[in-house]
Amino acid sequence: MVYKKIPFALPDIDEQEIQEVTDTLKSGWLTTGKKVSLFEHDLAVYSGCKHVIAVSSCTAALHVSLVALGIGTGDEVITTPFTFVSTVEAIIHVGAIPVLVDIEADTLNIDPKKIVEKITPRTKAIIPVHYGGHPCDMDAIYAIAKQYNVCVVDDAAHAIGAKYKQKKIGALSSDTTCFSFYATKNVAMGEGGAVATDNDELAQKIRHLALHGITHDAWARYGDNADWHYDLCAIGYKYNLTDIQASIGIHQLRKLDGMNAKRREYAAIYSQVFSRFQCLQLPIEKDDCSSAYHLYPVRVQVKGDVSCLRDSLIMKLKEAGISTSVHFIPVCSFKLMQEHFGFREDDYPVAMEAFAGIVSLPIYSSMPRDDVMYVADTVSEIVSCWEQ
Ligand SMILES: *Cc1c(COP(=O)(O)O)cnc(C)c1O
Repeated sequence: MVYKKIPFALPDIDEQEIQEVTDTLKSGWLTTGKKVSLFEHDLAVYSGCKHVIAVSSCTAALHVSLVALGIGTGDEVITTPFTFVSTVEAIIHVGAIPVLVDIEADTLNIDPKKIVEKITPRTKAIIPVHYGGHPCDMDAIYAIAKQYNVCVVDDAAHAIGAKYKQKKIGALSSDTTCFSFYATKNVAMGEGGAVATDNDELAQKIRHLALHGITHDAWARYGDNADWHYDLCAIGYKYNLTDIQASIGIHQLRKLDGMNAKRREYAAIYSQVFSRFQCLQLPIEKDDCSSAYHLYPVRVQVKGDVSCLRDSLIMKLKEAGISTSVHFIPVCSFKLMQEHFGFREDDYPVAMEAFAGIVSLPIYSSMPRDDVMYVADTVSEIVSCWEQ
């Protein structure tokens, strides 16, 4: 009998976000303007970087980063198979070839030890993805990037507020860091993204490229200090964020540390309850890292057909009113990707094994604590049968 209905993710929206959006709608200025500027400023302060350019999505942020770094046809870009397809699509959109490197079995992040084998003279960049909000082994990645003179573009869609060795993701030494503000992410504004960088020249390029390659945005042309003139400095893209979206983001950002603390608290509850089960592998947090806990993925760990048990866990949770998800279907297992780039599942055994048993449980700051307990109890009830 279903007596609960627990969504997989929900945004954490309060009256402040609603008021700010209302204010924007009444102001007469809906597109990129003062609120986007304020959001960019606040995010730069929050993440400890010099420049933030707000864009329409993390996918756009990744794409425009690669364009601005001069990566194009025939170049190779290294990333993980254990990501959302958009990471790889951004690489393909600049005409570069995606090169996948298998993951570490504990964090499920790209394995730096396996990156070097895939470096060729055509390698131009590495895109580490901070899976689930847990930072990648960035010192190892920077060492490789330095040795082979390649760029680093972080896919930080899960990792806003996460820390690596006391420093926030976005304040490290990557060329750019790309954030997502998609509806389910830690900072949610429906759709949205941002590029963070300390590089002045790169920031200016990205700012132009993200808005048609023109030198003055609409605010500069029609806003308080209007000047109608603009020049064209690149063939750019329509990737700007609107003031409506930024209105939500401004308040999400102010609440972020509190929201992430809630995720951490819920992750600790899950981990405490599940620690008695041999058949579940739980997310870890390394000593020098602080995760943003965008996800709480558990992995079924039994002898026999792992994915069959995983699927039955998903089904039984659904019957109990609990929505789950799977992060991710490895990029190397899509037929279309295999046909285009020759990926073979066998080349990524760690990612394929992780995928077989993985399921993401609901975790979000607006989730009632009772619901967390209900999920924990329901999962426990199901998997305790497997242990006998
Ligand atoms: C959500 C997500 C993206 C894409 O973000 P958008 O803002 O929706 O473009 C990229 N990478 C990862 C790992 C994601 O989870």
